[in-house]
Amino acid sequence: MRNIDHFIGGAAYASGERTSDVFDPNNGVVQAQVRLGTAADLQKAMDNALKAQPAWAATNPQRRARVMFNFKALVEQNMDELAHLLSSEHGKVIADAKGDIQRGLEVIEFSCGIPHALKGEYTQGAGPGIDVFSMRQPLGVVAGITPFNFPGMIPMWMFGVAIACGNAFILKPSERDPSVPVRLAQLMQEAGLPDGILQVVNGDKEMVDAILDHEDIKAVSFVGSSDIAHYVYKRGVAAGKRVQAMGGAKNHGIVMPDADLDQVVNDLSGAAFGSAGERCMALPVVVPVGDKTANALREKLIPAIEKLRVGVSTDAEAHYGPVVNAAHKQKVENYIQMGVDEGAELVVDGRGFTLQGHEKGFFVGPTLFDHVKPTMQSYQEEIFGPVLQIVRADSFEEAVRLPSDHQYGNGVAIFTRNGHAAREFAARVNVGMVGINVPIPVPVAYHTFGGWKRSAYGDINQHGMEGVRFWTKTKTVTQRWPDGSVTGENAFVIPTMG
Ligand code: NAD
Repeated sequence: MRNIDHFIGGAAYASGERTSDVFDPNNGVVQAQVRLGTAADLQKAMDNALKAQPAWAATNPQRRARVMFNFKALVEQNMDELAHLLSSEHGKVIADAKGDIQRGLEVIEFSCGIPHALKGEYTQGAGPGIDVFSMRQPLGVVAGITPFNFPGMIPMWMFGVAIACGNAFILKPSERDPSVPVRLAQLMQEAGLPDGILQVVNGDKEMVDAILDHEDIKAVSFVGSSDIAHYVYKRGVAAGKRVQAMGGAKNHGIVMPDADLDQVVNDLSGAAFGSAGERCMALPVVVPVGDKTANALREKLIPAIEKLRVGVSTDAEAHYGPVVNAAHKQKVENYIQMGVDEGAELVVDGRGFTLQGHEKGFFVGPTLFDHVKPTMQSYQEEIFGPVLQIVRADSFEEAVRLPSDHQYGNGVAIFTRNGHAAREFAARVNVGMVGINVPIPVPVAYHTFGGWKRSAYGDINQHGMEGVRFWTKTKTVTQRWPDGSVTGENAFVIPTMG
């Protein structure tokens, strides 16, 4: 059985009595064991990071950017290998796996421009002979804890910006699909990154707690489910760290009566079911405004859903592959049963789906519910599977209220031809990222990513200039250079070392 080691000090590090199974979701078999590290393993990484970080911070930003340029080229050269590795542990189809890596690479591209982003502010003549300037300095050693669903993109969101800013970064990826993060760290080393600046410690809660409690880790970025995000936020802040902790989601797509329904159905096929619904920016709730819109949408959705092809992740024709593991498949199917028990109408049932030759794979067929009510638990909670729920709204006002009142506030979309309705919606909805006729409004890398309410704890978002702010601290210098003409007791004397 293959072991997945840590990547510490520029080399594989095989430590850890405990291990966790990494599955091949297409076949339901264990394909590797990942080591679950301890506080002692983290300390080994910390020793390297603390030693290496000052010289990296002192390396000029253009040289740091050059490593990012090299890394980008290496990832592009190795795209096929990375996408297959990602897909083999996660289960998303190859095209989605490439998209996962590509969206992360866009943050690396942003990081290639770090010299520009780190330029501070300057005021000449803030007072007589006085100038004020600010500089952004790295925090030191920082850490990221990432979820299973984007094992390429989310680590790159974090370490791309953090490392370009001059920090040493310790990554604790999901134990469910840790191979791509380890491979990315190897490629960063190949790109010229000094040993100790990017290290990967594998593990579970024990490693997360060790990170949160370590006094030399200055900031922690977390992405995962909301209860754990909240826990990480509280424990990290209590330990004096800067923490951003992104959580779960339940994104709504509002369909106005004037929307192009064919376009909406096409968009929903990707946004609700793509990657088996395991995306924090998926669109698992659709809110048609008015029964006429709802009936017309439903009529078009059913045949589109029935046409979706579920297949193994290497099937180039497949729309989506298996979910990540058996426990998650069970959880999704339990939510489908909950919806039935709560009285929602199950229009298309994806339970019990099997793929010939892959009977043990973790597949869930596409599922559609209609007449879902806001009081239902299956609506209020995140399912994170290929399940689309229709919640009918009577009016635009109700359509604004539904996502605004929901516990999660990651993303939302409105489909309409009416600019005024779209503009009002974007201004009023209580959600962090809004799409107007864009089903998955993940902002580009030079803007910033972050939800509201239980979808994010902490104030500063991922990537873009917010990322630079998160991974640096600002120092402001007020300077005066006397001309030497002042004499007597007002004379400026340069202190000398005795
Ligand atoms: P998860 O919360 O189970 O795991 C995330 C990380 O936390 C992993 O590294 C895991 O090892 C660690 N962890 C798990 N249990 C822990 C515990 N008890 N204590 C401390 N750490 C623990 O999340 P997941 O299932 O890997 O990912 C899916 C979730 O992530 C979904 O809720 C999804 O919406 C969310 N997500 C959010 C965003 C966003 O930007 N808001 C992006 C992607 C995914």
